[in-house]
This record gives sequence, structure tokens and C-alpha cells, in this order.
Amino acid sequence: MKALVIQCRHFKRLLSDRWPLLHKSWDVINSRQTQISPVISGGSALEYKHMTFDELGLSEEILRAVREQGYSKPTPIQAQAIPVALEGRDIMAAAQTGTGKTAGFTLPILKLLQQERAGHGHRPIRVLVITPTRELAAQVGESIATYGKYLPMRSTVIFGSVGIQPQIAKLRRGVDILIATPGRLLDLVGQKVANLSRVDILVLDEADRMLDMGFIHDIRKVLALLPKSRQSLLFSATFSNDIKRLASTILRSPVLIEVARNETVSLINQVVHQVGKSNKRALLSHLISSQNWKQVLVFTRTKHGANRLTEQLGKDGIHAAAIHGNKSQTARTKALAGFKQGGIRVLVATDIAARGLDIDQLPHVVNYELPHVPEDYIHRIGRTGRAGHTGEAMSLVCHEELKLLTAIERLIKKEISVLEVPGFTSDLAAIPAHDAAAPSEPRQGRAHKRGGVPNQRRSRPGPSPSRRRRGHGGKS
Ligand code: AMP
Repeated sequence: MKALVIQCRHFKRLLSDRWPLLHKSWDVINSRQTQISPVISGGSALEYKHMTFDELGLSEEILRAVREQGYSKPTPIQAQAIPVALEGRDIMAAAQTGTGKTAGFTLPILKLLQQERAGHGHRPIRVLVITPTRELAAQVGESIATYGKYLPMRSTVIFGSVGIQPQIAKLRRGVDILIATPGRLLDLVGQKVANLSRVDILVLDEADRMLDMGFIHDIRKVLALLPKSRQSLLFSATFSNDIKRLASTILRSPVLIEVARNETVSLINQVVHQVGKSNKRALLSHLISSQNWKQVLVFTRTKHGANRLTEQLGKDGIHAAAIHGNKSQTARTKALAGFKQGGIRVLVATDIAARGLDIDQLPHVVNYELPHVPEDYIHRIGRTGRAGHTGEAMSLVCHEELKLLTAIERLIKKEISVLEVPGFTSDLAAIPAHDAAAPSEPRQGRAHKRGGVPNQRRSRPGPSPSRRRRGHGGKS
């Protein structure tokens, strides 16, 4: 008992440190902190492991649709979020990408709507799901259609860069669930086609990305149009101060659900290829051809870089397509469909465009350039290793990216195996002697062996992230 009280105090302190604005009113379920969970609603992570969908309080129609998807048991985020959402509570969930969070909110929403059938006459919008990108909106829309196939609910997806008339026609016919990106939503509200005054449930999906993309003002405008009395579910991969501020204005006594925060999925085999900047494209083509990769998602930092790489791969005889914000929606949809169906071998994407992409059993993700924001690394590689499948994530890292790599390793609390492919040397030779810490222990023992030989000569300098940091003079 004494131990329990101490744990409880420790947890309160932890919570107030991490979420100072919100902790006071929150019940917390935290599957990472299993020693604490018995004192908090929701039960322990072990309990979730043995849960079945049948225990979650969903209806037979929904369970049937879920069974047809072949899901044997709920994922931790589903096991935790579904019962809480069904109670009508607000939720703030930190869920890693690929954890099944979409079903975590769509399944209870469908059940809640099923319980309270809309009256006769025009159907008001009762659920609003806001997403940062069109691709994510489309995917949430597909999930709702899939899980709700035995229910009479109507849903529709609206986003910009495509014709507005079909969207207007659908809204005029009446929808129960609206999935939207913020800009087009406000446009349709302005045209008095979308009326948000009857919304019972609001979902903000990937809220952190919405803020990154500068949607905060649009979100505030949308919030002002919603009834004060409603249920709100906020999903975010990370909880920055801005997210906490936003959450504190939206959520009422929310339940916090956190699943594997800031940790990369164990089913993903991660590896770093050290390579000079000018050799990256040749190395990528070599890896794709020599290992006969059939489907690989490649991340670049810029739209221009994505276009250039796509062209270069084409010249190497590798069928590639780019997906980024400057591409029309038609081009993006076509590229994604071609990639999913196998006609396009390489999809080159920027972070924003790739957000929320769910490609069934994607085997390979390549970071052609490391992201500036370490959390983006987790989102990127989380496109593979989803729903119990294994995957490989490779990062092509040149000298000037070592600090970014250090920051990523610090975030994921793990050193990534280093590999050098013969013939594609790293540009570490270019580091001035005084700038590089002496490599005290090469990392050959941890290197991944497929596609090249373990790096025995010049590994990234130093055995630990801190050592390397000193070696490169500065914090990352
Ligand atoms: P999400 O994190 O929502 O993007 O989901 C990632 C992938 O997991 C999607 O392809 C889902 O179809 C799949 N998925 C969702 N729930 C489950 C489950 N309970 N069991 C197996 N796969 C699931």
C-alpha cells in the first residue's frame, strides 16, 4: 500500500512536470508506466494484452466489420481509447504512428452514433474529424466506410485542390460524419453548405502536425462554430507546449492515453548507411536494384529535392513518382494508387505529404535526408512495420547530418546500426582531424549485414551519442 502511495505521488509529480497545464483534472492511463496504472482508471498494460474486441462494448454490426478486417485483438490504443470514448469522456491520446489509432476513435464514434439515431428530416453533421492532410482525411474516410459498412450512417471527406461541387452536393444530401481538412471546411462553412452547430463529437487527428502546418487560426475558427457541449478527442504524436495549450482550451477533464510515446516500433529494422552527400543517389539506386526492392518509400526534405530525385531515379531505370504539397491532388492520388498497386516502385515524399499514409505491408522506408525535427523520423519509419508486420528503415547519412542523427538516437533511446556499402564511401574523411572524436570502438558488432559489409573502418566517431556530440562541437 505504502509503495502504491509513493508511486502515485511520483506519478503526479511526473505528470505535472510534463503537462503542467492539464494534469490537475486528468485521469491517466499510461501503458508505458505499468507500475502506476493500477491506481489509475483503465487497468494495466497486461490486461490490454488479453482483451478482445467483444469486451469493448461495440455493437455486433461493428464487430462484424472488424472481424472481416482480420483483426484478432485490439491494439493497446484501441483497448484503452474505445471504452473511454464510449463513456462520452474527452480524450487526449499520444499514439505512435501505425498503432491502430484510427480505429481507436472511429469504432466508438460509430457505436455512439448508432445509439443516438438522427431524427427524421435533414441529417445534421454530428461528428467532425479534422485532419492536417488530404491523404489522412481520405484514409480516415476509408476507415469509417470500412468499419461502418453494416451501419446506416453517412460520411463524407472534404479537402481542397479538388472540385468543390461534388462535396457541396454530398453535404446538401446530409452526412452524419464529416472528415475534413481545415481550409476547405471553412470555405464550405462560409458558403453556408456545412453547418457545424449540431456537432456532438469533434476529433482532431494528428494535432501536432496541424500546428506545424500553421492551421491554428483555422482550427480556432472551426472551434468557435461548434457547440460548447460536445465530446472532443485529440490525437497527437507529440505533446509540445502549443499542443498542451490547444488541448487545455478544447478538452474537458480529458483522459490521457499514452501508447509507446517516442519509441520506434520494434518490428522495424533500422540501419544507417554512411555515405557522402554526392553519392546518395547512386547508393539508393544500387540498393534498390541489387536487393531487388519492389516497393520503397523515400523521404526527402524538400519538394524540389523530391522532384530531382524522382527524375534521377527515372534515368537509372527505376520507376519513381513524387508526392508533395506542390503536386495537384489528382497527381498525388494517382502516384499513391500506382505505388500501392505496385506499378510505381519508388514513392519519393516530403514529410507533410507522407503524413498518415497507410500502405499495407510496406517493406522499405528510406530517409534520403534526415528530418530536421527528430520526431519526424519516428513518423517516417512508422510507415513500415505496421500492424504486426516487419519492415526496414534505412537512413542515408552524410557528415553534415550527424548532429541530426544524434538527436534522433537520443529521442528513440537507441543507437542505430551503421553500415557502409563498398564503393559508396562516407564523407567522414572530409572531417578535419580536430573536429572528429577518435573512433574508440568501431560499431561493426552491431551492424546489419544485408546489402553490404559491416562498417569496420570508419564508423561515426565515438561509441556513444554524448561522445559524438562533443566530437562535433555543439548540441543538436
Ligand atoms: P493507424 O495507426 O490507424 O494508421 O493503423 C495502422 C494499420 O493498422 C492500418 O493498416 C489498420 O488497418 C491496422 N489495424 C488497425 N487496428 C488493428 C488491429 N486491431 N489488428 C491488426 N491491425 C490493425
